[in-house]
Formats: sequence, structure tokens, C-alpha cells
Amino acid sequence: MATASGSDDCVTFRRALRRAAPGLQRPLPWIGHADPWAILVSEVMLQQTQTSRVVSPWTRFLQTFPTANDCADAPLSRVLQLWEGLGYHRRAKALHAAATRIRDDFAGELPREASTLRLLPGVGEYTANAVASFAFGQRVAVIDTNVGRVLARALANRSLTQSEARVMARQLLPASNVAMFNQALLDLGSQFCRSVPVCATCPVQQHCAWFREGGDDPAPNSAGVSRAQSKFEGSNRQVRGQILGLLRERPLSNQRLFKSMTQVEEGRLAQIIEGLITDGLIERTTRGLKLAS
Ligand code: SF4
Repeated sequence: MATASGSDDCVTFRRALRRAAPGLQRPLPWIGHADPWAILVSEVMLQQTQTSRVVSPWTRFLQTFPTANDCADAPLSRVLQLWEGLGYHRRAKALHAAATRIRDDFAGELPREASTLRLLPGVGEYTANAVASFAFGQRVAVIDTNVGRVLARALANRSLTQSEARVMARQLLPASNVAMFNQALLDLGSQFCRSVPVCATCPVQQHCAWFREGGDDPAPNSAGVSRAQSKFEGSNRQVRGQILGLLRERPLSNQRLFKSMTQVEEGRLAQIIEGLITDGLIERTTRGLKLAS
């Protein structure tokens, strides 16, 4: 089976993608942004969230917290207020904690190196590499679910292990303009090399191993490619969002909260509330519950 790592295929794919890059660019406000904090906020918000849902909250968030210090100086409840519409609220808590770390340990400036960025709460390999590349032009590979699909299909035409994907992604990096190249890979994955790929109009089709050789789709079980999310409707995730939505408006007594959530069985609701308290997203008061401060 053909692999492209370090081969002529790798070189020609890189060239083809660089040629296609201008046409792949999406008009997203954080692309090409000069401020590392703004890029970190976008990367945290984009985790497991559709791009279209991030634009408004990202804009609102940066208007309120233009710097990491502004975010760190605010109570967590204010960050949770601004997280409306994004879900996965543990990310909001981690971002607030990251801002605090940036203020206290890095004099309010984001570190440049991916390995140091990973010391920040909620910042894993992908987010650290994305910020290091897009904000600081560091020569590091960025592998998310979009890039994972491109690597498996276009370069390998087989499922890749985590370490194979890392090696392949690093070998693919150009010597210069790494941020632009990483962005082009992400854009290719999100616009053409989707879960259901749009090969007919893909600009790198002639350099894609899977397109050329055929076979089963190698992407679904390959490194970096996320599984389909579980159903949102009726999930605990939905109920957590509803509780936080109510507490965003104002603190509530237990009785009032339970009355507002009659669609959820009481035992289950109590468990979900406990989970939110354990996660540090809401707090008990003498009168009931409120967003964590
Ligand atoms: Fe992905 Fe199809 Fe393009 Fe290959 S030709 S990179 S599989 S969209």
C-alpha cells in the first residue's frame, strides 16, 4: 500500500496544497489575527464546536476581555455568561484558569513554544500547536479531525496510528509559511475532505492517494479523526446547558430550578446539578444555586 511520508507524493501534495491555499481561505475573523490571546480563545471555542457557532461568542468575548489579564481579573461567572451558545462549559472554566496562569506566571503574555503552552489548563497538543503555529509562526504540525482525514486519505490511503500521523504531518510541513500551510490543511479538511468528502471538486484530487487508488475510506478510524458526537437532544449535555442558561439570568432557589425543569426526572436532575457543582461551574448558596464565581 502506498504511503507518502517523505516521498515524491508528499512533495507534490505539499505543492498542490500551497497552490490551492488562496482559494481555500475562509473569511473567519481569527484567521490571520495578530493577537495570540484572540487565537487561543478561538481555538478553545472551536473544540468540538461548529465554526459558524463560534464567530459571535468569540467577538463578544474579546470585546469584554481583550487581554488574558482582563479575563483573569473577572469572576468565572462572567466568563460563563459569555459562553452562551457554545456548550461544553468546562472549556470556559479552563480558559479562565489559563488566563489566570498567563497573568500570574507569564506576565500577561502567551508563551511562544508549544511545549510551554501545554502547561496552560485546558490546552492539549492540538491547541498548543495551533496557537504556536498561527500566533507565533512556529514550525509545528496541527492535527485536528479535518487534518486527520486528509492525512489518512490523501497521503496514506490507510488508517494511521497517532505516531504515524504525527510523523507524516511533520514531514509535510514546508520550510516557510507554516501557519498558512497549516491553515490550508484545516481548510481543505473542513471544506472538501469532510466526513462525506467532496472529491469531485477537490483542488488536490490529482494528488490524493485514496482518490487515485480507491478502497474503503481510511479516515473513520485514523488518528486525530473524532468519532461522531452522541445525540444532543435529551442528553445530559443538553440539560447542563439548560441549567446554566437559567442561572445565567439569575441565581435560583432549588425549588424554582426544579419547577423550571419539569421535563427532566428529579433524580436525574439532582445528579446533573451535582455534576455541575463538582465541575466548579455552579455553586450552592444559602438560598439555592448560582453560577460559580
Ligand atoms: Fe479528500 Fe477527496 Fe480531496 Fe482526496 S480528493 S483530499 S479524499 S476530498
